[in-house]
Amino acid sequence: MTGRSFAVCVYCGSIEGLPDSYLELASEVGRQIAARGWNLVSGGGRAAMMGRVGSAARAGGARTTGVIPQALVDREWADHDSDELLIVETMRERKALMEAHADAFLALPGGVGTCEELFEVWTAGYIGLHSKPVVLLDPDGHYTGLLDWVREIGERGFVRPEAIERLVVATDVAEALDACLPSADVSQVAV
Ligand code: AMP
Repeated sequence: MTGRSFAVCVYCGSIEGLPDSYLELASEVGRQIAARGWNLVSGGGRAAMMGRVGSAARAGGARTTGVIPQALVDREWADHDSDELLIVETMRERKALMEAHADAFLALPGGVGTCEELFEVWTAGYIGLHSKPVVLLDPDGHYTGLLDWVREIGERGFVRPEAIERLVVATDVAEALDACLPSADVSQVAV
């Protein structure tokens, strides 16, 4: 971590029309990030949950950094209110910059894009490419099937226990943000 505030990179659903409960969850995450005096790193869009996290975080005084590929500027409605909006060429550059700007990664309920982002930082973490916390906030069982499958293939030998333990699963916002701190005792809250 540099001289800046602690920054959390949030991955979440970006498709319009999601149930209000998910949008409210995203707002609550943004509010609580700001309340802790942290910064937000996001995909830099105003669509759906991504937009809610960003606007709530800013409303609470957090600095927000968005990273968005040029091709998604219109589709995800680039968040021009971001304190810092980095427009890149490719999805890979987006993910690399989001990772570089963050001290921890937090995935909320989302779709395949969110899963892709989560799996990338999770695998990078367990093979030792970074040591930042990777946290999944799942208040309603959104990811139960996925987590059951990961455990099942772990039992068949395809995923090592330490890889599974590298992902912390939390069911409420405060617990998830606590787990983002590097000092969090992962063994107490792992899957
Ligand atoms: P989704 O969970 O599908 O709503 O996507 C959430 C975010 O993941 C969106 O901002 C997508 O642009 C982003 N994303 C990152 N990597 C990918 C990818 N390989 N394919 C699709 N979306 C992606």
